[in-house]
Amino acid sequence: MGQCARCGVKTGILSGSKNLLGNEYCSYCYTEEKLYYSENLLAVLQEKYDVPPDSGEVFYQYGFFRIPSSSYHIWVKDKNFCFFPSTPKKKEEDYVFIYFAVSDIEYYVIEGETTGETAIPDVHKSSNVGLENEVAANMKPETGGVGRKDRIINAQNPKTAEDDQRKTNLHILLDGIKRNMYFRYEDYGEFYKIIPDKAYCNVKNS
Ligand SMILES: [Zn+2]
Repeated sequence: MGQCARCGVKTGILSGSKNLLGNEYCSYCYTEEKLYYSENLLAVLQEKYDVPPDSGEVFYQYGFFRIPSSSYHIWVKDKNFCFFPSTPKKKEEDYVFIYFAVSDIEYYVIEGETTGETAIPDVHKSSNVGLENEVAANMKPETGGVGRKDRIINAQNPKTAEDDQRKTNLHILLDGIKRNMYFRYEDYGEFYKIIPDKAYCNVKNS
């Protein structure tokens, strides 16, 4: 019917025909344009949502918000705590901007254990390993995929990162209901950079 807006080839049965932002592309160009678009969409939307250059960057693992497990910018604007993806997404609907009042944050704290420290790989300690890993597996029911067998194998080599069960847990109160958002352990410092007042130790002592 038409013509590819990028390479000029006749679109139709042989070269395909797909629309993107009001333009028609052949199948090949569509794939390329789509990639370009998604990479630039990140920058465009980051500008739209006013992501500041000094924002923090954290990795959301799971929790109350059903958003992709991925990297997000965090910052505070107008007393709101804001989240927006920091890496390109395949689907436009994955660019989710989340914000809630800073006052809705109860605190954030590091929770969980690192098997590497608690399960000392001595022979006489090994009987505890299965139990500890079972407990660890039960602590994170939403991660799926990681079976108990994997954990036991890891326990024999406790220096792998997967043994580190510690997480930064952001406790929030939304509409009066306690919610949680779980991030990597090492993201704690990013939260501390953005909202130091909400660190558990500071909330407790204030
Ligand atoms: Zn084309």
